[in-house]
Amino acid sequence: MKSKLSFLALAIFFIVSSCQSNDTGTKPNVIIFLVDDMGWQDTSVPFWTQQTAFNRLYQTPNMERLAREGMKFTQAYACSVCSPTRVSLMTGMNAARHRVTNWTLRKDTQSVGDDNLLEQPKWNMNGMSPVEGIDNTALATPLPQLFKNAGYKTIHTGKAHLGAMETPASDPLTLGFDVNIAGHAAGAPGSYYGKNSFGNDNPQRTTWAVPGLEKYYGEDIYLSEALTLEAIDAVTSANEENQPFFLYMAHYAVHTPIQGDDRFLQKYIDQGIDSTEAKYASMVEGMDKSLGDIMNFLEQKNLDDNTIILFMSDNGGLSAVARGGERHTHNLPLSSGKGSAREGGIREPMIVKWPKKVRPNSMTDSYVIIEDFFPSVLEMAGIDGYKTVQEIDGISFVPILEGKDVANTRPLFWHYPNRWGPNGPGIGSTSAVRLGDWKLIYYHANRHFELFNLEADIGESQNLADTYPEELNKLAQILTDYLLEVDAQMPIDKSTGELVEYPAEILK
Ligand code: CA
Repeated sequence: MKSKLSFLALAIFFIVSSCQSNDTGTKPNVIIFLVDDMGWQDTSVPFWTQQTAFNRLYQTPNMERLAREGMKFTQAYACSVCSPTRVSLMTGMNAARHRVTNWTLRKDTQSVGDDNLLEQPKWNMNGMSPVEGIDNTALATPLPQLFKNAGYKTIHTGKAHLGAMETPASDPLTLGFDVNIAGHAAGAPGSYYGKNSFGNDNPQRTTWAVPGLEKYYGEDIYLSEALTLEAIDAVTSANEENQPFFLYMAHYAVHTPIQGDDRFLQKYIDQGIDSTEAKYASMVEGMDKSLGDIMNFLEQKNLDDNTIILFMSDNGGLSAVARGGERHTHNLPLSSGKGSAREGGIREPMIVKWPKKVRPNSMTDSYVIIEDFFPSVLEMAGIDGYKTVQEIDGISFVPILEGKDVANTRPLFWHYPNRWGPNGPGIGSTSAVRLGDWKLIYYHANRHFELFNLEADIGESQNLADTYPEELNKLAQILTDYLLEVDAQMPIDKSTGELVEYPAEILK
């Protein structure tokens, strides 16, 4: 009898464990590796037709390795500042629809004041929300919740910046994450240094102090490294529990404050470049080391063949002079940087590794935009039939990953009825559309248009609005139709008290 029972127990054990291992064997693990404020040229991986001086300056060997194992996207877009991009990623909505059009921080409070000419609309300054009834939020079924519902262990690591302080989404655990490592409402770290307890040693700046990570306080460790160690710990636990994992690895790097990563700083100083740029380059390489450490870990655990990695940045490099600092990046040949509707503000380094699906060392010029990640990663994970309270704007880029020839025939949209940053090209309250090689920027303050042909003029130096009136009118109408469709908010012209007109109305 006893032996029969033992046999039964053993049989059940094998059935259960084989189900579990099948489960993890068929469901791929997914890592979204999101860098903060990293520009399109801040890497040794060339994303343009030629290698630039910046590609030679920055050293990102692990991005090179990821590109060798995956597909490089030369025309991947985000919004021009943090929270709009992050909310689009987590909800699949375009910023014009979700209305978290600027970066968030304090509840019911503008993060940036109005300018002289325009009054900002009542945008969703509290960010996104997984629950109804929170003022000034975009209600949505969050991406990690869908992974969790599908049986994934969901791990948030690093910068969240998805909801204002004292609102639910300031805590990633409300968004379907099982684990939150160091994420909260703020969009920058008080300090990158463990010896400064990541900003927790400064009672004047508690808003920016990185939460958690107490075991590293006082230690000589850089934030990017601490986050990586913690993320690997969390993935190890998921693996030991035979659970597939969704890791949102959202580095605080390479956002300001520009604080050198001492593991890599000296070799950049030795090159004789500006000290702020050297510090920035060391932060970029520290972030790249994190990518390499995670890839090494996956290989050691034999998880690399069943793990998808998507690399992305949330907006362009901060090419203007940061407050109290010096210029640290450039984005050239692109124009302008963070906060701008020009390419320097929105075009990002993107790489996707999808073992056995994506051809290694491949490249695509098909364009994509940040909200496309939402349907894409769910499709890659085989999660279908899901329901969301929000309407999804993103379109899956799986066909591109499968090597299909996807022409750039859909319009992409940006809408930013706010402003951030110093003056410069593309800075300020704008709407924009790209279709094929053409791009139109509409400046709300003076109703000015810029029309560029990006194929001929990637630096956006030749405004062709007067030369190609048909293209101008066509794009203005497409942009207007979309803004109307999603009920996009326009700023108010202070001189008249009226809403700024949609672009096609100006051209009538
Ligand atoms: Ca950012």
